Amino acid sequence: SELLELATTDSLTGLANRRYFLARLGQEHARMQRLEDQRAAVLMLDLDFFKNVNDRHGHATGDSVLKHFAGLLRRGLRRIDTAGRVGGEEFAILLYDAGRDKALAIGERIRLSFEDAASEVDGFEVGGTVSMGMAVCEDGVLDMSSMLAQADEALYCAKERGRNRIEAASLQMALDRAHEEMNRPGAMAPAAAQNHA
Ligand code: GH3
Ligand code: MG
Ligand code: MG
Repeated sequence: SELLELATTDSLTGLANRRYFLARLGQEHARMQRLEDQRAAVLMLDLDFFKNVNDRHGHATGDSVLKHFAGLLRRGLRRIDTAGRVGGEEFAILLYDAGRDKALAIGERIRLSFEDAASEVDGFEVGGTVSMGMAVCEDGVLDMSSMLAQADEALYCAKERGRNRIEAASLQMALDRAHEEMNRPGAMAPAAAQNHA
């Protein structure tokens, strides 16, 4: 089981590594397919201006901030949730049986705890903020890769709108994506138009 831990854990933070986090998403999706009235939420998190932390204090200090943040995640989540480090300073959370309100409450608590508690590293304080994108699946229909894509898109939106905030995947985002797809050169024409061509 030491081997299993090596294969599933990110060594810096002790959180699930990217591969294991994605595997957990797959398991959760399968579980939701089998049962009725299931829901889950995914949060994608990216530390704000993290490059500045490294530039100002060095990479080792940056690493300590990442560990500090992972600790806040662990304390902010329920045992049944899964937190993973999915990139350098990118994290993801799978929230079990969470709708929009519960996911927002948990995410917002984590966001504020990071904002409030600067990590003390080598005797000086290194502060920071985090942006999050949220996607919710209320009916078990959405597959997990679309959920991840939606959460990613919402995260991008949180960055654009000033950082240190949570945004949710919205109908507007889905519409924007549909429009982009329609306007793409070589995009498929609507079926009716094709039939008359
Ligand atoms: P923002 O996300 O707010 O747009 O700005 P950012 O500065 O965080 O974004 P960007 O993606 O440009 O930079 C991420 C930085 O995170 C780049 C790299 O220096 C740092 N980083 C990535 N992985 C690690 C790591 O494992 N340890 C440390 N110390 N830094 C890391
Ligand atoms: Mg990043
Ligand atoms: Mg960042």
